Amino acid sequence: GEWPIGDEKTWKSALKAMEIDKENPQDVANTVVRHVTTSLARQAGNMDTLAAYQATALSVRDQLLERWNETAIHHTAKAPKRIYYLSIEWLIGRSLDNAVLNLGMRNTYEDATTKLGFDLLNEERDAGLGNGGLGRLAACYIDSMATLNLPGWGYGLSTGEQLEAPDPWLDRENPWEIGRLDVTYPIRFYGRVEAVPNSDKALWSGGMECLAVAYDTPIPGFNTKNCANIRLWSAKPVQGFDLNSFNGDVAASSEVENITRVLYPNDNMYAGKKLRIMQQYLWVSASLQDILRRFTKLDLPWTDLPDYICIQMNDTHPTLAIPELMRILMDEEEIDYNTAWSITTKVFAYTNHTVLPEALERWQVDLFESLLPRHLQIIYRINYDFLGAIAKRWPGDMERIRRMSIIEEGTPKYVRMAYLAIVASFKLLQATIFKDFVEFKGRDSFTNVTNGITPRRWLLQCNPQFAALITHTLGTDHWLTHLKELKTLLPMAENEEFRKAFVGIKMENKRRLADLIEAELGIQLNIESVFMTQIKRLHEYKRQTLNLFGIIYRYLRIKRATPEERKSITKHTAIFAGKAAPGYYIAKLVIRLINNVAKVVNNDPDVGDVLKVVFIPDYSVSIAEVLVPASDVSVQISTAGTEASGTSNMKLALNGALLLGTVDGANVEIAEDAGEDQSFLFGHLTEQVEGVRFSNSYQPTPLEQRSSELQDVFRAIESGTFGDGQTYEPLLKTVYEHDYYLVSNDFGSYLSAEKLMDECYADKTEWTKKAIITAFNMGDFSSDRSVQDYADGIWSVEPCEVPKNAA
Ligand code: PLP
Repeated sequence: GEWPIGDEKTWKSALKAMEIDKENPQDVANTVVRHVTTSLARQAGNMDTLAAYQATALSVRDQLLERWNETAIHHTAKAPKRIYYLSIEWLIGRSLDNAVLNLGMRNTYEDATTKLGFDLLNEERDAGLGNGGLGRLAACYIDSMATLNLPGWGYGLSTGEQLEAPDPWLDRENPWEIGRLDVTYPIRFYGRVEAVPNSDKALWSGGMECLAVAYDTPIPGFNTKNCANIRLWSAKPVQGFDLNSFNGDVAASSEVENITRVLYPNDNMYAGKKLRIMQQYLWVSASLQDILRRFTKLDLPWTDLPDYICIQMNDTHPTLAIPELMRILMDEEEIDYNTAWSITTKVFAYTNHTVLPEALERWQVDLFESLLPRHLQIIYRINYDFLGAIAKRWPGDMERIRRMSIIEEGTPKYVRMAYLAIVASFKLLQATIFKDFVEFKGRDSFTNVTNGITPRRWLLQCNPQFAALITHTLGTDHWLTHLKELKTLLPMAENEEFRKAFVGIKMENKRRLADLIEAELGIQLNIESVFMTQIKRLHEYKRQTLNLFGIIYRYLRIKRATPEERKSITKHTAIFAGKAAPGYYIAKLVIRLINNVAKVVNNDPDVGDVLKVVFIPDYSVSIAEVLVPASDVSVQISTAGTEASGTSNMKLALNGALLLGTVDGANVEIAEDAGEDQSFLFGHLTEQVEGVRFSNSYQPTPLEQRSSELQDVFRAIESGTFGDGQTYEPLLKTVYEHDYYLVSNDFGSYLSAEKLMDECYADKTEWTKKAIITAFNMGDFSSDRSVQDYADGIWSVEPCEVPKNAA
């Protein structure tokens, strides 16, 4: 076709002039220095580490944007089916190191920045728009989508992080986020709805309008030109509110600015807050408007929509996208209800990520109705048809209708978001807690995809020496995109030289962590001890308590032992990291007890280096990148039947940590793949939990009888060994009474598993073999495999690779 604007030759040679030689440090240095002098307005004599980081980041960003643009042009020209991944959380971490690795320019940048005299370490702050596994999973998946050349975009919210203390970094510009101030969409809340006679259309007007503004974060694939995008929305006020339509108590402008002010800090816990539903609506409405605008450029009938887009919902948070698509199709595109429903139900797939009832989202109907009156009407209509179908299939089964209705009856009434997501989606992932729906929709509608992690960040980037050892031994780095090839290295477990190299790397990683802990917390560690890490959100179901009570038990044992006996006790370093939600009282009490136990244990001369306890505050992706490669044991001890998957278990195993865990979530597959003798499993099984829980509640036995060891531990806490015993009463009470998470019931078998582990650690050679075998059996846990499974089995999208020599 015609060149769209200006003189083609001038444009093309200008674009050509921007190209740099990836291998040439001088070329890279040129672009960095250009940013020093122009973007930052600094000179060589006026540089600090922050400016050095910013100039380097801007230079890398240029490289990403070039690929971003090429990808956009290529995908527009090819018009492939696209996958849109809707996730309210994106826990990306740092971008600089990951970007230069994926671009294949790490060495060149290292060379260039060293020559410029830059020290880039620790200047970048984490992009932490997430709480835990759900947000980190999204980040791994978008990395894999880009790497697999899939035409995929992520959509999320550009919020601030909710911090307990002010963060001095917060004012810094984020060089990885590009404001698209020209990409905005109107969003309405409240208002009134008028039916349009003789049609399925309605007019929704009045209320409060605001704008969603786009911010893009480019995500480079590994070893490809393809670059994916995460588009995040931020709320901005518009002029001209219909103030008459408010009930008087709504201050429009400040309310708009509040919508995307903070990320909700709960993990696996639904809070039912009005601002949260406003966030969700703003996000999905803007995302859908953006997705549909891209589709309408193809000039195709709406019934073709499912051939061109698939929307993957990461948990129920984006479920409002379903009534929103219905609203747009009916009210704006004037499509009848049945056609709109037929289109909508071919577009969405929903993955359920939690089995905890307290995490399932249900919005109060009155709140919902005031904010989104048109959407409630649409949901009622969907539910009417759905319940009609149930009544037809199971006549007279009112109990089933009550159980399955999208609207939970009662005072107040609720909209059950998971049920809406299931009813409207063509594919559902995770069936265990939705048995009624499996019966209704059929087995084929449900499937399962095991989660995964990107081996680029979680091995190549965080454990470069181990990655280099693998590449050296295999003679190629092909494994980085074909992780199953690690299996061919299994015989290396029997190779003494390889084991020596592996141990050397593990020790260096432990040293790096020990140095960090000494610098930050003043605690000295013995790197010969077993590093046992439990790193994840603080949550009762994850049972940091079980680990902590085990540590106290060990401490009491050490105190009782003679100096001679102490020498035979395996040396442990117990490392915790994780945040608690600000309002989660029990979780905060656990942190407090960990810290007080650490204070007592770490300073007790009787203990010495036999036991050390560390709590690392402000857990983040960057801290995980130091902890994961330095761990010997991965502590994954959630009550059976509570952790849907877990992904830190995969990261730790891939880096050679042995699993000390319950038979829960992905621990099951990890232990299976690692091989029979590589893991230490313990605890009640999922099918036993209900029964034990029932007896704990209704036929409670004294703690002494459930576990005399735990009773000893509690006596030590109560008698003030770790500060005022009364402080911990509410925490201990959760175990004395009910013990919903079976801490007392699993304590004995936890101690036995630990004992087995200690015996095993005594034989260092055997231990190292197990670590190597574990790591090289983790090939199936690459997020490339997960995303490929999604692409083939659910999304039906194909790669659309930008040609390597594209202009
Ligand atoms: N938080 C961070 C920073 C992570 O990197 C991860 C995953 O490794 C998680 C949370 C999730 O951890 P888990 O699977 O143990 O809940």
